[in-house]
Amino acid sequence: MSEADDETIHCDRHGPAKMAFVCQHLVGGSGLGFWCTDNGPYPDAWCGDCDDLMMQTGEWTEEAEKIAGIRVICHHCYVNIRRRNRVRREKPSP
Ligand SMILES: [Zn+2]
Ligand SMILES: [Zn+2]
Repeated sequence: MSEADDETIHCDRHGPAKMAFVCQHLVGGSGLGFWCTDNGPYPDAWCGDCDDLMMQTGEWTEEAEKIAGIRVICHHCYVNIRRRNRVRREKPSP
């Protein structure tokens, strides 16, 4: 395995940027809760529902990964997503 820390992607909105990984729910959601690992400035992140799922088994199973549907996003989008989802709403208003 080679070092992948410097990998960049081209974001439609932000242009060239660093890669980050989040679950598919966070990408378009808000107030979903924001959970992440401790690795680096833009660690892999997932929503509250995905976290509940992972807590049931204590680890990321194949099933959990399928539901999480991890997406590659740019680090600017990551910051926006983190801001939107950090506070979890119990009942999102319609
Ligand atoms: Zn999720
Ligand atoms: Zn972006």
